[in-house]
Amino acid sequence: MKITGRCYCGDITYHAEVDENKVINCHCTDCQKMSSGPLRTVVLSYPGAVTFNATLPKEYIKTAQSGNKRAQGFCGNCGTSLYATSVGGSDAERIYGLRIGAVHEREQLTPKAQIWCRSSASWLNELNTMNNFETTPPAN
Ligand SMILES: [Zn+2]
Ligand SMILES: [Zn+2]
Repeated sequence: MKITGRCYCGDITYHAEVDENKVINCHCTDCQKMSSGPLRTVVLSYPGAVTFNATLPKEYIKTAQSGNKRAQGFCGNCGTSLYATSVGGSDAERIYGLRIGAVHEREQLTPKAQIWCRSSASWLNELNTMNNFETTPPAN
């Protein structure tokens, strides 16, 4: 599936081809920390199938406990988190885990699996039982 993405400020735009069957929620503590949220949802690109248009993202190289290194791409201006990918190797083989929040077609990207559920926020199962408002709560 072809998609396009854009950071919040618009400095970074990209187009990509992704496997819409490979959308996952990750509840690991690194994803919680780096997103400052309860989880991250990513879709995997095909190898070498992400192209940035003008400005290139900045990358932070994260080293996991295992020693595995992953480049974390983000907008150097507004800070929007955009992807994780491998370090080194050829661009033609590079697979990106694109954060779906910055993807225009995100409504069509439904997660198929979840990983690191042992550290998921306990309240995620209760989202539908909270007070839910279409926008903000009505003024009283
Ligand atoms: Zn930006
Ligand atoms: Zn994670």
